[in-house]
Amino acid sequence: MMNIRDKVEADITTHNKNPYKIVKELLKDSITELGLSDNIYNILKKPMRVLEVSIPIRMDNGELRNFTGYRSQHLDILGPTKGGIRFHPQVNADEVKALSIWMSLKSAILDLPLGGGKGGVIVDPSELSERELEELSRTYIRKITPIIGPQKDIPAPDVNTNPEVMGWMIDEYDKLRGFNVPGMLTGKPVILGGSLGRLEATGRGVVITIREAARVLGMNLSECTASLQGFGNVGSMTAKFLHELGVKVVAVTDANGGIYSKEGLNIPELLEFVQAGNSVVGYPHASPLSNDELFGLPVDIFVPAAIENQITKDTAPYIKAKIVAEAANGPTTPEGDRILEENNVFVIPDILCNAGGVTVSYFEWVQNAMNYYWKEEEVNQKLEERMVTGFENVLKMRNEQNGRMRKAAYMVGISHIVKAFKARGWIKTPDLSRNYLN
Ligand code: NAD
Repeated sequence: MMNIRDKVEADITTHNKNPYKIVKELLKDSITELGLSDNIYNILKKPMRVLEVSIPIRMDNGELRNFTGYRSQHLDILGPTKGGIRFHPQVNADEVKALSIWMSLKSAILDLPLGGGKGGVIVDPSELSERELEELSRTYIRKITPIIGPQKDIPAPDVNTNPEVMGWMIDEYDKLRGFNVPGMLTGKPVILGGSLGRLEATGRGVVITIREAARVLGMNLSECTASLQGFGNVGSMTAKFLHELGVKVVAVTDANGGIYSKEGLNIPELLEFVQAGNSVVGYPHASPLSNDELFGLPVDIFVPAAIENQITKDTAPYIKAKIVAEAANGPTTPEGDRILEENNVFVIPDILCNAGGVTVSYFEWVQNAMNYYWKEEEVNQKLEERMVTGFENVLKMRNEQNGRMRKAAYMVGISHIVKAFKARGWIKTPDLSRNYLN
């Protein structure tokens, strides 16, 4: 089998692996199913604003390099746009647009008063020194400052960005404004107004949806096994909470490779090992495993928690899991999805599964606005309520439509947004079918 990373890079621009094309097809399909007109599709398919910026950086060797960054703002009718910033060599305009649409849908499913946004810089941060990375983070924020702010668009961490990067970015923004604006981004260090529970929130939310799916399928989690692709913020936290629920996590991978233990990995020990700056590959108490081998493991739960386009026509046939929990955004191509459907796999779609991150980011923004901070239990309790309600609403739609969780999630999200269109007088009866009005 070809190396997964090479395959993604080779195919990223093809129709089946372009996330923007994929999300547009999913939108169109769900809008038709809801009986809504093409006019709704024509609005939802296009972000309201996309900014491309150049980011010149003086490198440590004295060379001047110019990086390219983006910020996409999809729709702000429910509130300011919101979404992470990604540093990755595969970042491109279409990816950022797709990710911003997914953010709108996530917020709508979880009933958050926010729209979707996303940003990214084309860079491999592992090739930069800490000073270069800080300079890049600060310059990117300067370049997008005209279109962001707590009432406009609120960034957060995503792939290869973390609270430390958020700390540099907020510092730069505050210097430009001349006063502290903690609500301009979320996922920042707690000392700067970050929310307790934010670091764990996406993984915690993923595991809440897995727990609910297991309940629906009558699976006893303490007898289940799981494997994960990606062991960054989301993957590692998902592993932690699965382990706490008694799930045996037998395999994890990261960009360098992976590890396997039939008896189950010691997740607390592995977390410490990785938090010390190591790849999972060097963890001594397990056997080596490639990212390709990961797909064929006989587990009950598979969690893609890395990047897009991992479950494809090439990898999906090997998946034996009963539940696929899409912790990553866009991990499944349409062809991969069809194979999962044929094999009767219960898919928890990304726009529901990983919405815990934006939910606690929303709580962080609320706390910043009040300048009053909640205990972690309060944050976690509120997250639990939102995730369970979101899951139930999607499940209800799936059962009513006799369909799949992914389409149901799109339909729940789109219906919510269309209600706001209607309330604002943007659309009149011809855009809504009788079915929808009922
Ligand atoms: P991260 O940078 O912390 O971790 C990414 C992990 O994926 C790393 O372990 C990396 O080594 C691994 N990886 C990268 N390419 C890989 C490959 N080809 N094969 C195997 N592993 C690979 O990023 P993150 O914040 O954990 O985000 C992971 C996913 O979750 C992304 O799709 C992101 O958009 C999504 N997400 C993140 C958040 C959040 O709060 N951070 C919220 C919602 C969704």
